Amino acid sequence: MGHSNMLHAYFLIHFIINSFVFITPGSSRPWPHTLFPSSLPNEAIDTNLCTDTSCIKIASSDYGNIIQELPFGVLYPSSVSDIKHLVESSYNSTTPFTIAARGNGHSVRGQAMAKDGVVVNMGSMSSNENERISVNGNSSLGFYADVGGEQLWINVLETTLEQGLAPVSWTDYLYLTVGGTLSNAGISGQSSFHGPQISNVLEMDVITGKGDLITCSKNMNSDLFNAVLGGLGQFGIITRARIVLDKAPNRVKWVRLIYKDFSKFTKDQEHLISIDGFDYVEGSLIMKNTPASDFFSPSDKSMINSLASENGILYCLEAVKYYDDHIINTIDEELEMILTGLSFESGFSFKKDATFFDFLNRVRDEELLLQSIGLWDVPHPWLNLFIPRSRIMDFNEGVFVDIIQKQNRSSSGPFLVYPINRKKWDDSMSVVIPEDDEDMFYTVALLNSAKDYKDWAIMDEQNTEILQFCDKSGIKVKQYFPHYKKKEEWMKHFGKKWDIFNERKAQFDPKMILSPGQRIFNSE
Ligand code: FAD
Repeated sequence: MGHSNMLHAYFLIHFIINSFVFITPGSSRPWPHTLFPSSLPNEAIDTNLCTDTSCIKIASSDYGNIIQELPFGVLYPSSVSDIKHLVESSYNSTTPFTIAARGNGHSVRGQAMAKDGVVVNMGSMSSNENERISVNGNSSLGFYADVGGEQLWINVLETTLEQGLAPVSWTDYLYLTVGGTLSNAGISGQSSFHGPQISNVLEMDVITGKGDLITCSKNMNSDLFNAVLGGLGQFGIITRARIVLDKAPNRVKWVRLIYKDFSKFTKDQEHLISIDGFDYVEGSLIMKNTPASDFFSPSDKSMINSLASENGILYCLEAVKYYDDHIINTIDEELEMILTGLSFESGFSFKKDATFFDFLNRVRDEELLLQSIGLWDVPHPWLNLFIPRSRIMDFNEGVFVDIIQKQNRSSSGPFLVYPINRKKWDDSMSVVIPEDDEDMFYTVALLNSAKDYKDWAIMDEQNTEILQFCDKSGIKVKQYFPHYKKKEEWMKHFGKKWDIFNERKAQFDPKMILSPGQRIFNSE
């Protein structure tokens, strides 16, 4: 069977199993009793552990809609000690079972799943414990928020804004959990100025794979602190994180600039992340078959669409400047000064004014729209890459132009591309970025949504083609949200960090209990 037929067959089987297993929500378990993790504490089984089909169903799928793994059960903890107790039970057992914290299940390849193990539904902590977000500090020493690992970033924003404060580093979408994004990195257009979210954590409480609850920071248990940040859930479950806050602005000036020429586009992006001007810089592709975003007015859209049709592909630089009432009279002038000298297409600069909250929460409207038309819960064959700065022109030619544009398919989700300053990333943390000494690297996010399994297979094949192109051309990319099947692939991914990653695993989760869905220590 060819590769593509195999993928089709796989997807078909996936859907058949899905419909078979979940035919009657709430009915008894579809697997034999012998799969019970024998060491589960009785009181957990009686109270917070759900083994109903309806619980299992939620915990065995994720935003990706590609992988499905059935856990034995789902723990709905009402306190930190419920989670600690669960991990201790597994660790102390002669037959340990696997445990995965599930934030909001927005992974795309089963990373928060635990086949035959227990998924911890972190969200239930927020409904059962008060004050899981508290704001502290003062203006001379700095402000911070102590936040439960299960909290969504939208809740962190809303609570801190009540005191005129906000975190400084964000993701594009806010319905993700603090524990989930800190297990990866947490990046967005602010990362060049403040570092990723993992660089803005002062302290954490973590339950290790041995069941120990440990407070860690750069100065206290720093091995655990560095291991957990960007650690893909392998070393502990974050139950509290202390996040850096700053004074929140009221409003933003939001700009989009259109380019035909990729080298002018990246030159301007790199310039803007090197000066003190904007507070957020990203970028994306506009393909000729893709309708331009609703950021633009209908007449601007038709102008952009006709330029895209002429050119085949356009590049859209997106930047934001925060401001407050006291500079309301000068902000437009300041903005014009920053834009002077940039090389976007003449007449193709578009501006908007928005509240700080609406700007940060910008993806939510899109989500609600897609949900209303049934296009949110579809397969998401995403590919997220970090690319060495010196190879981004080759990547543009080989991937954006030769693979993506030539296929002439309408884009099915945003394709993001923007540089990030390296200096605010901490190399002692587990997170993996390109192993060179360049001062910037690029992030490329191909955020595809598939209509059906056939569409999914085509997109997945294109992702493979892109990775093969990078490999053949010697472009040393690193995957963000990595997913691999083989140990050698993981070793290559971690590169010089592989040994320390292993040492830390042996130290903090020696029985390999945590986050098995990442498939790092249980790969082929
Ligand atoms: P989950 O998917 O539930 O978990 C992710 C991993 O972390 C799993 O291995 C899990 O076991 C582990 N984990 C979860 N909670 C904890 C915890 N408390 N302690 C330890 N381990 C834990 N990412 C960005 O960086 N920038 C973006 O702009 C961005 N935009 C996104 C937009 C959308 C629409 C979506 C769906 C995702 C986006 N992401 C982005 C990706 C997001 O960061 C990941 O999906 C991430 O996994 C967080 O999702 P989650 O909180 O649901 O975690």
